[in-house]
Amino acid sequence: MPDKIALKEKREIAKQRAEELKGRIEPYLQAKEEIPDGMKEWDIIFERQEKIKKHFGVDDSEWNDWRWQVTRRIYRVETLVKLLGLAQEEAENIKKVGESYRWAVSPYYLSLIDPNNSRCPIRMQAIPSFEELMDNGGKDDPMGEEFTSPAPGITRRYPDRLIINVTNQCAMYCRHCQRRRNIGEVDRGTPREQLQAALNYVRQNEEIRDVLLTGGDALMLNNDLIDWLLTELDNIPHVEIKRLGTRALVTMPMRVTDELCKILERHAPIYINAQFNHPMEVTPAVAEACMKLTRAGVALGNQAVLLAGINDTAHIMKKLNHNLLKILVRPYYIFHAKAVKGTAHFRTRVDAGIAIMEELRGFTSGLAIPTFIVNAPDGYGKTPMLPEYLVSMARDSISIRTWENRIMKYENKD
Ligand code: SF4
Repeated sequence: MPDKIALKEKREIAKQRAEELKGRIEPYLQAKEEIPDGMKEWDIIFERQEKIKKHFGVDDSEWNDWRWQVTRRIYRVETLVKLLGLAQEEAENIKKVGESYRWAVSPYYLSLIDPNNSRCPIRMQAIPSFEELMDNGGKDDPMGEEFTSPAPGITRRYPDRLIINVTNQCAMYCRHCQRRRNIGEVDRGTPREQLQAALNYVRQNEEIRDVLLTGGDALMLNNDLIDWLLTELDNIPHVEIKRLGTRALVTMPMRVTDELCKILERHAPIYINAQFNHPMEVTPAVAEACMKLTRAGVALGNQAVLLAGINDTAHIMKKLNHNLLKILVRPYYIFHAKAVKGTAHFRTRVDAGIAIMEELRGFTSGLAIPTFIVNAPDGYGKTPMLPEYLVSMARDSISIRTWENRIMKYENKD
């Protein structure tokens, strides 16, 4: 733009540009009002919670006790029929799916389901669907995790970090779970000897600076065990940070007790990665849990999974990420769903994810833009998928494509 333009004229240009930018956000502003939102629908969710409490004959103190939520996970079709008013055919289908794939839902997560909407994004993640039995194409372990476990309980795919699998338990068994082969029929904590073996592996490999405790769900461990594991890791000089992988923050926010927060605060630096997939999952109860964790010095991130019919549009992803930022959870990754057996109905094309990224970059704050990831086959690692912004590269300049599709030259000199 030429420099010699009067200030008044510059202001006019800026005003026109501002109008143009307003136009760019208009479609989202209209669409977002239609997207179910756990904050706005809390009154309705609360009414459903009252119904569930009445069904179990409990009061708030039991409802808010995570152990009660775990022991009262709903895994009988008869209970679902009563609480969601399922049709006979659907109930029969759930029974059939249950013979092949385990399912269970925490009473809290069940309360987020809209019983009048068969395509409710919460319901689709929680309640078995006959489509699970129609998928014979996927693999049990497309990431080849079994080939990346150099010691019991360890998954290692990168030079300086690894996973310790601490349990196979979860507050809910997600229908899209990418590790469903680990879930099994019974809850199994990793035996103490196996945890010791995994810790020994970390001790013996000094390049490991970052350890992720996951499973299953790391917050399904009791507080004493979490404290012990974090203490052991703190005593390994080369471990710089600890991470916990959990969906309990989403499916059972009452797991975030004051006692847990005190433990995590003692073992800083701690990072928690959750898995929020839809704005309906971001509720006042979740916000309170996130605030407690943040006050305890825990940094929160989100790893969404791109799921057909649930969050495979830019508007839903944008709203999810905005709602997460409001509760101090940084959108970190969006994973392309792998070809795990029984989950084909959730899988999108990779281009669907790239199209979402295209509609996020520039259209919203960089903080609200996670990295879209394809997990390479056979455990060769997370691979970022990006829209193309570099059009060409010459000796002294490059040609770039902006978020609004303007092709521009950019100097690239020594
Ligand atoms: S919480 Fe995670 S590991 Fe557990 S069922 Fe859901 S996706 Fe799978």
